[in-house]
Amino acid sequence: MVAEMIGIDLGTTNSAVGHSTGSDLEILPNTRGDRLTPSVVAFDGRTALVGAQAVNQAVQYPNHTVFSAKRYMGTDEEILLGEEGDKSAFTPEEIAALVLKKLCRDAEDALGRSVDTAVITVPAYFNDRQRQATKHAGEIAGLTVERILNEPTAACLAYGLRTGTDQTVLVYDLGGGTFDSSLIEISGSVFEVIATNGDTNLGGDDWDARIVDWLEEHLSVEHGATIDDPVTTARMFDAAKQAKHELSTRQRTQITIPFLELGGDTYDIERTLTRTQFEQLTEDLTEETITLCEELFEPTAYTPASVDEVLLVGGATRMPSVRERVGEFFGTQPATRVNPDEAVALGAAAQAAILDEDTLPVPDDDSGEVPVGRTTADVPTTRDAADIVLLTVTPQSVGIEAHRSSPDDTYYDVLISRNTPIPANETKLYSTVVDDQKYVFISVHQGEGSLSKTELLDEFKIGPLPLRPAGKPDIEVSFAVDQDGLLQVSAEDVDHEIGDEIAIESVFGLAAEEISAMKQNLPALR
Ligand code: AMP
Repeated sequence: MVAEMIGIDLGTTNSAVGHSTGSDLEILPNTRGDRLTPSVVAFDGRTALVGAQAVNQAVQYPNHTVFSAKRYMGTDEEILLGEEGDKSAFTPEEIAALVLKKLCRDAEDALGRSVDTAVITVPAYFNDRQRQATKHAGEIAGLTVERILNEPTAACLAYGLRTGTDQTVLVYDLGGGTFDSSLIEISGSVFEVIATNGDTNLGGDDWDARIVDWLEEHLSVEHGATIDDPVTTARMFDAAKQAKHELSTRQRTQITIPFLELGGDTYDIERTLTRTQFEQLTEDLTEETITLCEELFEPTAYTPASVDEVLLVGGATRMPSVRERVGEFFGTQPATRVNPDEAVALGAAAQAAILDEDTLPVPDDDSGEVPVGRTTADVPTTRDAADIVLLTVTPQSVGIEAHRSSPDDTYYDVLISRNTPIPANETKLYSTVVDDQKYVFISVHQGEGSLSKTELLDEFKIGPLPLRPAGKPDIEVSFAVDQDGLLQVSAEDVDHEIGDEIAIESVFGLAAEEISAMKQNLPALR
């Protein structure tokens, strides 16, 4: 039997799975019947729990539980789970792999067929390391990752397939831990990303943290108490998130946290938070997203007024203050035709269908409309999916640390600048700066501005080079960014007799052996 390809929205807070039936796109519910699965993992020393079950035991076992691990993707952060003295260390990739494994297992249950391939979405602003880590997580979970797709592009695909009109769309995507804004031009079947900007460390969790700060300040002023243990912190964050959600539909909310243990004493928190107060506490966070939207337009010929439709994606866009501010900035009420929680997974499923021609959705009649069936009214039609072309861009510039005339005089030389359509390739010649230089170090950076503002992605050296005067060798450095937004770098001394032998391919993230060891040792799911 042919295994299935699914679309996965691997979110910071929640994840969702989309699937194409061949005539329709649908969200696959998990084994509890929920359309969203919390991206939360708990580990008891032997087996792992993922999703609502992990959330349910989190307040009791905070040291065994990890929330929002997507924030660590692409870093060397060790995630330690367990009690003091008996902790197990996980990489962010392993935690993401456990979430993916659970999503696939549940998808297999829902479909009654095996799942071995996936399109996985990432924030558009994810850098190379973060994309690579996501792909590796899929591999650790035993999946073939057919495509890494940008979340806003996926959402726009789900939306655009439904409306079928030519327009300029701004996707404002505020999730639990990340913010992305993307400007996308839909013209016929072509979806072209014009520019993208964002912050991979700004999301709904930061709004929760502001409520926690406010509660802490009260505890400190009223009782001189400080919070010093993970159980209390977990309870505070839990209550803060709940209050934030309530304030999306109400003007005020009551925050009640009984029996808080602080420094040997017990306190009951009982406070009223109004929407106005909450909006004051978080105004700068909302403004930060608007500044990022403003910056998005700078390198383009577009202005906020040229946007026809604003699409809101990500659970945190349910906050009324966010909707209002976005509407005010763009001078248009944001579209509500897509469900912000499901649009990305549906778009990922559409991309999966485009890649896997066997299950390409086709309209069932001349109108091109597809029956809504057992999915929500937000389900896009699948009109012209066969002809869909997705053109996307690099989110951040990539380049190397280059030298002017002396080893100390360095600068950031960009090879592929941000917002370049991908796939993209660039090759440039460099040389040595001292006579008889034996090695050339290639430091690959990503980001904008001066060298100090960028992030070092990787370093490697080529050599030993034959002895030649400074400036003589021709060192050819090649950059290639593929469809997934992944970067490959190579360097070569072109005049050298053994030429290719000293061409070194840079490898980012985990090595193949590490991925296979992690796959073998991944804890079983309970
Ligand atoms: P996502 O990563 O897209 O699943 O978004 C999750 C974020 O959306 C979290 O910070 C949630 O607290 C937030 N969120 C979900 N529902 C609401 C709501 N009704 N009001 C405010 N924020 C929400």
